[in-house]
Amino acid sequence: MLTAEELFYDPVKTFVDVFSDSLLACHVGDLLTCGEVNVLAGLLAARGHHDAAERWLAEHQAACGEPHHH
Ligand SMILES: [Zn+2]
Repeated sequence: MLTAEELFYDPVKTFVDVFSDSLLACHVGDLLTCGEVNVLAGLLAARGHHDAAERWLAEHQAACGEPHHH
């Protein structure tokens, strides 16, 4: 029998689950624009994934020349 979670697909939950991967943040964080990483980190934090949000920002900021944008 399917659980309620399996019955109701939550695209935001799936997005957050995929993008809370620290290895993905490590490989892609520096490729995003400041605005892109800000909204991604904001969504992760809003869904309770604070460590993942900080990881994305840290990986991005290591290569970002505009630290005042974050
Ligand atoms: Zn930046």
